[in-house]
Amino acid sequence: MSTQQFPTETWTPANFLERVIAATPGESRLEMCIQCGTCGGSCPSGDDMDNTPRQIFAMIRAGMEEEVLASNTPWYCVSCYYCAIRCPQEVHIPDIMYTLKNMAIAQDRYVDSVAPDWSQTFVDYVENYGRSFEFGLATRHFLRHRPSGLRDTAQMGLGLLTKGRMDLSPQKIEQMPQLQAILNRAKEVEATL
Ligand code: SF4
Ligand code: SF4
Repeated sequence: MSTQQFPTETWTPANFLERVIAATPGESRLEMCIQCGTCGGSCPSGDDMDNTPRQIFAMIRAGMEEEVLASNTPWYCVSCYYCAIRCPQEVHIPDIMYTLKNMAIAQDRYVDSVAPDWSQTFVDYVENYGRSFEFGLATRHFLRHRPSGLRDTAQMGLGLLTKGRMDLSPQKIEQMPQLQAILNRAKEVEATL
């Protein structure tokens, strides 16, 4: 099934949905969302999001631009792509989240530092170890921003630790120099934009 295509020179997006699609590189496939909820059910950041990705896509369709761009949801997306590989409609969910972040910044809609701090912690682990470190990510987040939720999260973390599903210290990938070269090149390209 083909997805919606927009001419680039003469066409002007008419509504919020069309503007989000037009601003997302490549084919976002956003218009193909069938509201199944698989994305939200797969998302490691779902508990902290104001709205699930499914809700955000419904709100975009409904033209709720202010609410979408004020939501913390895109800022809690850590681009793990777990939702994208499970989405039955192959919607490019993380790419759409980047578009929404860009729009929120451009319109000065989202000013809370909590979610960007979550993203930065994730990026720091990837830059230093080549992968995420769930234990450190969650511990830092709760200590800094939600100490009251630490107890419940600690119980869940203990369960994951005892089942060998989570490490107590970050594990560095073997190909760190290659990843560092890719990240350095990406930063060089970004500096020219
Ligand atoms: S998994 Fe895909 S089709 Fe289902 S709600 Fe999320 S974006 Fe829509
Ligand atoms: S890519 Fe973003 S929205 Fe999708 S599962 Fe990962 S954190 Fe959640």
